[in-house]
Amino acid sequence: MRVLGIEGTAWCASAALYDAETDSVLIESDAYEPDSGGIHPREAAEHMSEAIPEVVDHMLAVAEDEHGPDAIDAVAFSRGPGLGPCLRIVGTAARSLAGTLDVPLVGVNHMVAHLEIGRHRSGFDNPVCLNASGANAHLLGYHDGRYRVLGETMDAGVGNAIDKFTRHVGWSHPGGPKVEAAAAEFAGTDPGADGGDSTANLLDLPYVVKGMDFSFSGISSAANDAADDGVPVGEICFSLQEHAFAMLTEVSERALSLTGADELVLGGGVAQNDRLREMLAAMCEARGADFHAPEPRFLRDNAGMIAVLGAKMAAAGDTVAISESAVDPNFRPDQVPVTWRDGESV
Ligand code: ATP
Repeated sequence: MRVLGIEGTAWCASAALYDAETDSVLIESDAYEPDSGGIHPREAAEHMSEAIPEVVDHMLAVAEDEHGPDAIDAVAFSRGPGLGPCLRIVGTAARSLAGTLDVPLVGVNHMVAHLEIGRHRSGFDNPVCLNASGANAHLLGYHDGRYRVLGETMDAGVGNAIDKFTRHVGWSHPGGPKVEAAAAEFAGTDPGADGGDSTANLLDLPYVVKGMDFSFSGISSAANDAADDGVPVGEICFSLQEHAFAMLTEVSERALSLTGADELVLGGGVAQNDRLREMLAAMCEARGADFHAPEPRFLRDNAGMIAVLGAKMAAAGDTVAISESAVDPNFRPDQVPVTWRDGESV
Protein backbone atom coordinates (compact mmCIF):
# COMPACT_ATOMS: atom_id res chain seq x y z
CA MET A 1 0.00 0.00 0.00
CA ARG A 2 1.17 3.54 -0.82
CA VAL A 3 -0.29 6.48 1.10
CA LEU A 4 0.00 10.18 0.41
CA GLY A 5 0.02 12.05 3.73
CA ILE A 6 -0.73 15.75 4.23
CA GLU A 7 0.23 17.73 7.34
CA GLY A 8 -0.58 21.36 8.14
CA THR A 9 -1.71 21.84 11.73
CA ALA A 10 0.27 25.04 12.36
CA TRP A 11 3.59 26.06 10.82
CA CYS A 12 4.65 23.21 8.55
CA ALA A 13 2.99 22.53 5.19
CA SER A 14 4.09 19.03 4.32
CA ALA A 15 3.28 16.13 2.01
CA ALA A 16 4.75 12.63 2.14
CA LEU A 17 4.66 9.39 0.26
CA TYR A 18 4.82 6.22 2.33
CA ASP A 19 5.32 2.84 0.71
CA ALA A 20 4.31 0.21 3.28
CA GLU A 21 5.92 -2.63 1.31
CA THR A 22 9.39 -1.12 1.39
CA ASP A 23 8.79 0.98 4.53
CA SER A 24 10.20 4.03 2.71
CA VAL A 25 9.06 7.57 3.47
CA LEU A 26 9.63 10.62 1.24
CA ILE A 27 8.77 14.00 2.77
CA GLU A 28 8.48 17.46 1.19
CA SER A 29 7.91 20.35 3.60
CA ASP A 30 7.65 24.13 3.49
CA ALA A 31 7.86 25.93 6.85
CA TYR A 32 6.17 29.21 7.80
CA GLU A 33 8.64 31.53 9.52
CA PRO A 34 7.11 34.61 11.13
CA ASP A 35 8.98 37.88 10.49
CA SER A 36 8.69 38.67 14.19
CA GLY A 37 6.93 37.26 17.25
CA GLY A 38 5.27 33.85 17.33
CA ILE A 39 2.99 31.99 14.94
CA HIS A 40 0.18 34.25 13.74
CA PRO A 41 -2.88 32.09 12.81
CA ARG A 42 -3.91 34.22 9.81
CA GLU A 43 -0.37 34.35 8.39
CA ALA A 44 0.04 30.61 9.02
CA ALA A 45 -3.19 29.93 7.09
CA GLU A 46 -2.03 32.16 4.22
CA HIS A 47 1.20 30.18 4.13
CA MET A 48 -0.75 26.88 4.12
CA SER A 49 -2.97 27.99 1.26
CA GLU A 50 0.09 28.68 -0.90
CA ALA A 51 2.40 25.90 0.26
CA ILE A 52 0.04 22.91 0.55
CA PRO A 53 -0.76 22.76 -3.21
CA GLU A 54 2.97 23.01 -3.98
CA VAL A 55 4.15 20.24 -1.64
CA VAL A 56 1.23 17.98 -2.64
CA ASP A 57 1.85 18.53 -6.38
CA HIS A 58 5.53 17.77 -5.85
CA MET A 59 4.80 14.51 -4.04
CA LEU A 60 2.18 13.47 -6.61
CA ALA A 61 4.72 14.01 -9.39
CA VAL A 62 7.29 11.90 -7.53
CA ALA A 63 4.71 9.14 -6.96
CA GLU A 64 3.67 9.11 -10.60
CA ASP A 65 7.27 9.15 -11.83
CA GLU A 66 8.22 6.20 -9.66
CA HIS A 67 5.04 4.12 -9.68
CA GLY A 68 2.82 5.28 -12.57
CA PRO A 69 -0.66 6.83 -12.59
CA ASP A 70 -2.22 4.56 -9.93
CA ALA A 71 0.54 5.12 -7.40
CA ILE A 72 -1.64 6.26 -4.49
CA ASP A 73 -3.89 3.83 -2.60
CA ALA A 74 -5.13 6.23 0.11
CA VAL A 75 -4.87 9.87 1.20
CA ALA A 76 -4.25 10.60 4.91
CA PHE A 77 -4.44 14.03 6.52
CA SER A 78 -3.98 15.70 9.91
CA ARG A 79 -7.49 16.15 11.26
CA GLY A 80 -6.39 17.92 14.47
CA PRO A 81 -5.43 19.22 16.93
CA GLY A 82 -4.14 22.45 15.48
CA LEU A 83 -5.08 25.91 14.22
CA GLY A 84 -8.57 25.81 12.69
CA PRO A 85 -7.81 27.96 9.62
CA CYS A 86 -4.77 25.78 8.75
CA LEU A 87 -6.59 22.50 9.38
CA ARG A 88 -9.46 23.52 7.11
CA ILE A 89 -7.06 24.10 4.20
CA VAL A 90 -5.44 20.70 4.74
CA GLY A 91 -8.84 19.00 5.05
CA THR A 92 -10.09 20.57 1.83
CA ALA A 93 -6.94 19.54 -0.05
CA ALA A 94 -7.15 15.95 1.24
CA ARG A 95 -10.84 15.56 0.45
CA SER A 96 -10.51 16.88 -3.08
CA LEU A 97 -7.43 14.71 -3.72
CA ALA A 98 -9.08 11.53 -2.40
CA GLY A 99 -12.15 12.32 -4.52
CA THR A 100 -10.11 13.00 -7.67
CA LEU A 101 -7.96 9.88 -7.26
CA ASP A 102 -11.00 7.86 -6.13
CA VAL A 103 -9.14 6.40 -3.13
CA PRO A 104 -10.08 6.16 0.57
CA LEU A 105 -9.57 9.11 2.91
CA VAL A 106 -7.98 8.64 6.35
CA GLY A 107 -8.30 11.24 9.15
CA VAL A 108 -5.26 11.07 11.44
CA ASN A 109 -4.85 12.51 14.94
CA HIS A 110 -1.64 14.58 14.77
CA MET A 111 -0.61 13.80 18.38
CA VAL A 112 -1.10 10.05 18.00
CA ALA A 113 0.95 10.28 14.79
CA HIS A 114 3.81 12.03 16.70
CA LEU A 115 4.00 8.94 18.94
CA GLU A 116 3.09 6.11 16.59
CA ILE A 117 6.03 7.04 14.36
CA GLY A 118 8.35 6.32 17.31
CA ARG A 119 6.69 2.97 17.95
CA HIS A 120 6.92 2.17 14.25
CA ARG A 121 10.60 3.11 13.91
CA SER A 122 11.67 1.45 17.17
CA GLY A 123 9.70 -1.76 16.77
CA PHE A 124 8.72 -1.42 20.45
CA ASP A 125 5.63 -3.36 21.43
CA ASN A 126 4.02 -1.41 24.15
CA PRO A 127 5.89 1.73 25.14
CA VAL A 128 4.99 4.67 27.31
CA CYS A 129 5.05 7.63 24.93
CA LEU A 130 6.23 11.14 25.81
CA ASN A 131 5.18 13.85 23.43
CA ALA A 132 7.29 17.00 23.73
CA SER A 133 6.02 19.29 21.01
CA GLY A 134 5.32 22.99 20.56
CA ALA A 135 1.68 23.28 21.54
CA ASN A 136 1.41 20.09 23.61
CA ALA A 137 3.14 17.93 26.21
CA HIS A 138 1.73 14.66 27.44
CA LEU A 139 2.42 11.07 28.36
CA LEU A 140 0.37 8.39 26.69
CA GLY A 141 0.00 4.66 27.29
CA TYR A 142 -2.08 2.22 25.29
CA HIS A 143 -4.78 0.54 27.34
CA ASP A 144 -7.91 -1.29 26.28
CA GLY A 145 -8.17 0.04 22.73
CA ARG A 146 -7.10 3.66 23.26
CA TYR A 147 -4.07 5.78 24.01
CA ARG A 148 -4.80 6.97 27.53
CA VAL A 149 -3.43 10.29 28.78
CA LEU A 150 -1.33 9.29 31.80
CA GLY A 151 -0.19 12.84 32.44
CA GLU A 152 -0.07 16.18 30.65
CA THR A 153 0.77 19.84 30.92
CA MET A 154 -1.74 21.81 32.90
CA ASP A 155 -1.11 24.91 30.76
CA ALA A 156 1.43 25.55 27.97
CA GLY A 157 3.11 23.04 25.70
CA VAL A 158 6.84 22.67 26.38
CA GLY A 159 7.95 24.25 23.07
CA ASN A 160 5.52 27.15 23.46
CA ALA A 161 6.86 27.79 26.97
CA ILE A 162 10.42 28.00 25.60
CA ASP A 163 9.30 30.15 22.66
CA LYS A 164 7.55 32.55 25.04
CA PHE A 165 10.90 33.26 26.71
CA THR A 166 12.76 33.69 23.41
CA ARG A 167 10.12 36.12 22.16
CA HIS A 168 10.63 38.10 25.37
CA VAL A 169 14.36 38.44 24.72
CA GLY A 170 13.74 39.31 21.06
CA TRP A 171 14.85 36.10 19.37
CA SER A 172 13.06 34.92 16.24
CA HIS A 173 10.75 31.88 16.10
CA PRO A 174 11.34 29.01 16.69
CA GLY A 175 13.19 29.64 19.94
CA GLY A 176 13.95 26.04 20.97
CA PRO A 177 17.11 25.54 18.86
CA LYS A 178 18.48 28.91 19.97
CA VAL A 179 17.91 28.08 23.64
CA GLU A 180 19.63 24.74 23.09
CA ALA A 181 22.67 26.43 21.50
CA ALA A 182 22.88 29.15 24.20
CA ALA A 183 22.54 26.57 27.00
CA ALA A 184 25.25 24.37 25.48
CA GLU A 185 27.57 27.35 25.13
CA PHE A 186 26.96 28.37 28.75
CA ALA A 187 27.51 24.80 29.96
CA GLY A 188 30.71 24.65 27.89
CA THR A 189 32.15 27.87 29.25
CA ASP A 190 31.02 27.65 32.86
CA PRO A 191 32.56 24.83 34.85
CA GLY A 192 29.66 24.80 37.33
CA ALA A 193 27.01 24.49 34.65
CA ASP A 194 27.65 21.14 33.10
CA GLY A 195 24.46 19.53 34.37
CA GLY A 196 26.67 17.24 36.38
CA ASP A 197 28.41 17.81 39.70
CA SER A 198 27.53 21.37 40.50
CA THR A 199 24.24 23.22 40.49
CA ALA A 200 25.89 26.47 41.51
CA ASN A 201 24.80 28.19 38.31
CA LEU A 202 21.35 26.72 38.12
CA LEU A 203 18.81 29.48 38.66
CA ASP A 204 16.00 28.62 41.03
CA LEU A 205 13.04 28.45 38.58
CA PRO A 206 9.57 26.98 39.31
CA TYR A 207 9.51 23.19 39.10
CA VAL A 208 5.88 22.04 39.04
CA VAL A 209 4.99 18.35 38.92
CA LYS A 210 1.73 16.96 40.34
CA GLY A 211 1.72 13.20 39.98
CA MET A 212 2.14 12.76 36.24
CA ASP A 213 0.85 16.25 35.36
CA PHE A 214 3.12 19.26 35.12
CA SER A 215 3.09 22.99 34.44
CA PHE A 216 5.29 25.28 32.36
CA SER A 217 3.62 28.68 32.66
CA GLY A 218 5.49 29.67 35.84
CA ILE A 219 8.87 28.77 34.42
CA SER A 220 8.39 30.97 31.33
CA SER A 221 7.39 33.95 33.47
CA ALA A 222 10.28 33.42 35.89
CA ALA A 223 12.73 33.16 32.97
CA ASN A 224 11.35 36.43 31.55
CA ASP A 225 11.74 38.11 34.96
CA ALA A 226 15.33 36.87 35.24
CA ALA A 227 16.13 38.40 31.83
CA ASP A 228 14.57 41.70 32.95
CA ASP A 229 16.76 41.53 36.07
CA GLY A 230 19.89 41.29 33.91
CA VAL A 231 20.76 37.61 34.45
CA PRO A 232 22.93 36.50 31.48
CA VAL A 233 20.71 34.91 28.86
CA GLY A 234 22.88 31.79 28.50
CA GLU A 235 22.47 31.07 32.20
CA ILE A 236 18.69 31.42 31.89
CA CYS A 237 18.57 29.12 28.82
CA PHE A 238 20.61 26.51 30.65
CA SER A 239 18.41 26.68 33.76
CA LEU A 240 15.19 26.71 31.71
CA GLN A 241 16.18 23.53 29.89
CA GLU A 242 17.41 21.76 33.04
CA HIS A 243 14.16 22.47 34.89
CA ALA A 244 11.68 21.82 32.07
CA PHE A 245 13.39 18.63 30.89
CA ALA A 246 13.84 17.33 34.44
CA MET A 247 10.07 17.68 34.89
CA LEU A 248 9.48 15.66 31.71
CA THR A 249 12.01 13.07 32.82
CA GLU A 250 10.48 12.74 36.29
CA VAL A 251 6.94 12.18 34.97
CA SER A 252 8.20 9.74 32.34
CA GLU A 253 9.95 7.72 35.00
CA ARG A 254 6.82 7.75 37.17
CA ALA A 255 4.74 6.54 34.20
CA LEU A 256 7.19 3.71 33.50
CA SER A 257 7.22 2.76 37.15
CA LEU A 258 3.45 2.82 37.66
CA THR A 259 2.58 1.00 34.43
CA GLY A 260 5.44 -1.50 34.63
CA ALA A 261 6.37 -0.69 31.01
CA ASP A 262 10.02 -1.06 29.99
CA GLU A 263 10.01 0.99 26.79
CA LEU A 264 9.82 4.76 26.28
CA VAL A 265 9.40 6.56 22.97
CA LEU A 266 9.80 10.29 22.54
CA GLY A 267 8.09 12.44 19.91
CA GLY A 268 7.44 16.08 18.96
CA GLY A 269 9.58 19.02 17.87
CA VAL A 270 11.29 19.59 21.24
CA ALA A 271 12.53 15.99 21.06
CA GLN A 272 15.17 17.30 18.64
CA ASN A 273 16.93 18.69 21.72
CA ASP A 274 20.06 16.70 22.62
CA ARG A 275 19.86 17.52 26.32
CA LEU A 276 16.26 16.25 26.62
CA ARG A 277 17.18 13.00 24.85
CA GLU A 278 20.28 12.65 27.05
CA MET A 279 18.27 13.02 30.28
CA LEU A 280 15.59 10.54 29.18
CA ALA A 281 18.16 8.03 27.91
CA ALA A 282 20.06 8.21 31.24
CA MET A 283 16.84 7.69 33.22
CA CYS A 284 15.86 4.70 31.06
CA GLU A 285 19.31 3.18 31.29
CA ALA A 286 19.29 3.50 35.07
CA ARG A 287 16.04 1.54 35.34
CA GLY A 288 16.79 -0.97 32.56
CA ALA A 289 14.21 0.37 30.10
CA ASP A 290 14.68 0.84 26.35
CA PHE A 291 14.50 4.35 24.92
CA HIS A 292 13.89 5.50 21.36
CA ALA A 293 13.60 8.89 19.68
CA PRO A 294 13.17 8.82 15.88
CA GLU A 295 15.40 10.87 13.58
CA PRO A 296 14.68 14.66 13.47
CA ARG A 297 12.66 14.60 10.22
CA PHE A 298 10.04 12.54 12.07
CA LEU A 299 10.12 14.64 15.26
CA ARG A 300 9.18 18.12 14.05
CA ASP A 301 5.79 18.40 12.34
CA ASN A 302 5.93 16.37 9.13
CA ALA A 303 3.62 14.49 6.80
CA GLY A 304 5.70 11.31 6.99
CA MET A 305 4.21 10.41 10.38
CA ILE A 306 0.71 11.11 9.00
CA ALA A 307 1.29 8.85 5.99
CA VAL A 308 2.73 6.01 8.11
CA LEU A 309 -0.15 6.01 10.60
CA GLY A 310 -2.58 6.58 7.71
CA ALA A 311 -1.34 3.37 6.08
CA LYS A 312 -1.88 1.39 9.30
CA MET A 313 -5.39 2.84 9.68
CA ALA A 314 -6.29 2.22 6.02
CA ALA A 315 -5.06 -1.40 6.30
CA ALA A 316 -7.39 -1.79 9.29
CA GLY A 317 -10.30 -0.36 7.27
CA ASP A 318 -10.29 2.79 9.43
CA THR A 319 -11.17 5.29 6.70
CA VAL A 320 -13.60 8.20 6.79
CA ALA A 321 -16.39 9.26 4.42
CA ILE A 322 -15.77 12.69 2.89
CA SER A 323 -19.11 13.90 4.36
CA GLU A 324 -17.90 12.99 7.87
CA SER A 325 -14.32 14.21 7.61
CA ALA A 326 -14.60 17.58 9.37
CA VAL A 327 -11.42 18.74 11.08
CA ASP A 328 -11.25 19.18 14.88
CA PRO A 329 -8.86 21.82 16.31
CA ASN A 330 -9.25 20.24 19.79
CA PHE A 331 -8.92 16.58 18.76
CA ARG A 332 -7.45 14.79 21.80
CA PRO A 333 -5.42 11.60 21.42
CA ASP A 334 -7.67 9.67 23.81
CA GLN A 335 -10.66 10.32 21.54
CA VAL A 336 -9.19 8.01 18.90
CA PRO A 337 -10.32 4.35 18.82
CA VAL A 338 -7.07 2.49 18.08
CA THR A 339 -8.10 0.18 15.26
CA TRP A 340 -4.63 -0.66 13.91
CA ARG A 341 -2.95 -2.45 16.80
CA ASP A 342 -3.68 -5.17 19.24
CA GLY A 343 -1.56 -6.72 21.93
CA GLU A 344 -0.91 -5.88 25.51
CA SER A 345 -2.01 -2.80 27.39
CA VAL A 346 0.31 -0.93 29.72
P1 ATP B 1 2.25 20.32 17.98
O1 ATP B 1 2.84 19.12 17.33
O2 ATP B 1 1.95 20.19 19.43
O3 ATP B 1 1.10 20.87 17.22
P2 ATP B 1 4.00 22.38 16.85
O4 ATP B 1 3.04 22.50 15.74
O5 ATP B 1 4.46 23.66 17.48
O6 ATP B 1 3.44 21.42 17.97
P3 ATP B 1 6.47 20.77 16.54
O7 ATP B 1 7.21 20.70 15.25
O8 ATP B 1 6.10 19.50 17.20
O9 ATP B 1 5.24 21.67 16.22
O10 ATP B 1 7.34 21.58 17.61
C1 ATP B 1 7.81 22.87 17.37
C2 ATP B 1 8.47 23.32 18.67
O11 ATP B 1 9.70 22.62 18.84
C3 ATP B 1 8.77 24.79 18.74
O12 ATP B 1 8.27 25.28 19.97
C4 ATP B 1 10.30 24.85 18.73
O13 ATP B 1 10.85 25.93 19.47
C5 ATP B 1 10.65 23.52 19.37
N1 ATP B 1 12.00 23.05 19.03
C6 ATP B 1 12.51 22.80 17.81
N2 ATP B 1 13.80 22.39 17.90
C7 ATP B 1 14.12 22.41 19.23
C8 ATP B 1 15.30 22.14 19.99
N3 ATP B 1 16.44 21.77 19.39
N4 ATP B 1 15.24 22.27 21.34
C9 ATP B 1 14.10 22.64 21.95
N5 ATP B 1 12.95 22.92 21.29
C10 ATP B 1 12.96 22.82 19.95
